[in-house]
Amino acid sequence: MAKIISDPHQTHINQTLIDPTPADLLTTHPYMTLGSSGLMLENVSLKRVADNVGTPCWVIGGGVIKERLHRLKAAMYTVGLNVHFHYAVKANDHYAILSLIKNEGYGADIVSFGELSRTQKAGIPAQKVVFSGIGKTTVDIEQALGLGIGQINVESAEELAIISAIATRMGKIAPIALRINPDIDAQTHSKITTGLSHNKFGIPFVDAIALYAHAARLPGINLLGFATHIGSQILTMDPYRAAYVRMASLVRAAREQGLSVRVVDCGGGLGIAYNTLPEAQPEDLAKVIHTTLGTLDVQIALEPGRWVVGPAGVLLSRVILRKEQGMAVPFLIIDSAMNDLLRPSLYEAWHGILPLSAKAFQQPLEKTHVVGPVCESSDCFAQNRLLPRLQRQDYLAILDTGAYGSVMSSTYNSRPLAAHVLIENSCWKIIRERQTIEDLWRGELSPLH
Ligand SMILES: *Cc1c(COP(=O)(O)O)cnc(C)c1O
Repeated sequence: MAKIISDPHQTHINQTLIDPTPADLLTTHPYMTLGSSGLMLENVSLKRVADNVGTPCWVIGGGVIKERLHRLKAAMYTVGLNVHFHYAVKANDHYAILSLIKNEGYGADIVSFGELSRTQKAGIPAQKVVFSGIGKTTVDIEQALGLGIGQINVESAEELAIISAIATRMGKIAPIALRINPDIDAQTHSKITTGLSHNKFGIPFVDAIALYAHAARLPGINLLGFATHIGSQILTMDPYRAAYVRMASLVRAAREQGLSVRVVDCGGGLGIAYNTLPEAQPEDLAKVIHTTLGTLDVQIALEPGRWVVGPAGVLLSRVILRKEQGMAVPFLIIDSAMNDLLRPSLYEAWHGILPLSAKAFQQPLEKTHVVGPVCESSDCFAQNRLLPRLQRQDYLAILDTGAYGSVMSSTYNSRPLAAHVLIENSCWKIIRERQTIEDLWRGELSPLH
């Protein structure tokens, strides 16, 4: 077993600590198994999928998602918490996945009218949808109120005034919570922390009570309570505890002023085991919520995204060629790139990589840089990664890409969006066709033609 890395900041691409070996990764990724037909996810041979669908190809395990949805629910119910769950749609917004999530009784957390529309297509009742985000447009707010949205998380005093005005004009009552920035360091990567006072998200903690009292007097507003979301890929409970202690103090302070508080929305952010660091445990989060907010008689809400879908997905790729560098570390150039999976370029994110064939697992390990073909130096999936020696045409899987994977894809370098496959009951189905070349210029017009 490779050395356990104890600093969450080290879970990024350029880490100097020892990477887990493929064998380590199989141990820390229990959903992936190695059979005679190679790497499997939910009893499906990933090589078979790649042979049939081609690469790059996203594969997501519906069984894994369901199991994790159940575990999260069970963790909260076990400590006696009645929680409203709103899956954060931005982690993976495919409507087949949203339907699966709806069938488990989850609502949704959305950040745009497009995401709201996807939840409606998947049949999630608008009453179970929470609208977050710092820049909701007039049309966003009108559409949400028109559909009867369950809750709008308000991120500024300015937005509060806008929502009150729109609701009043429409003759509607907007159900809102104030999203508070508790000024807590989530101890995660700087690009995915949201709960520090210099981040753009939420209402400053010090302004919370005055604005809450103001909101209670505004027309067109049904004031539900408070919300917070301190960041993403959080692996320890301390930041959550600190944030929820602050939220509990707000609930008490508001009630002392005679204001009603019915809801505390605890956000998302539970981290997963990309590397050898163990993932965050929902049972631990349940205890933290129970001890900090459990006696306040409020409706608790959660907005998990990454934790639910991240470990369920892989990105299948194929080696285009192996570029030797003399004595230096060779480049493995693969057919997936930063336009497919942006996280390594955007956040220096570390993703496990495994070959698909059982034979490839037997090859001697060597250090390799794994890169995509896009014309950017940041188009790099792994540096100095210990991998079995792979050759042209070999397949590999990039692990833990179910969250913030396909949703961030672009067609940069005119690369069509990859196909998407869902596994259910040990069968796989295409849920999004690979884009065609003609799709690339659909909607483009040229006055010269
Ligand atoms: C992104 C986001 C989430 C989900 O975060 P995860 O880290 O994927 O769990 C929840 N709530 C809000 C407001 C968000 O912006």
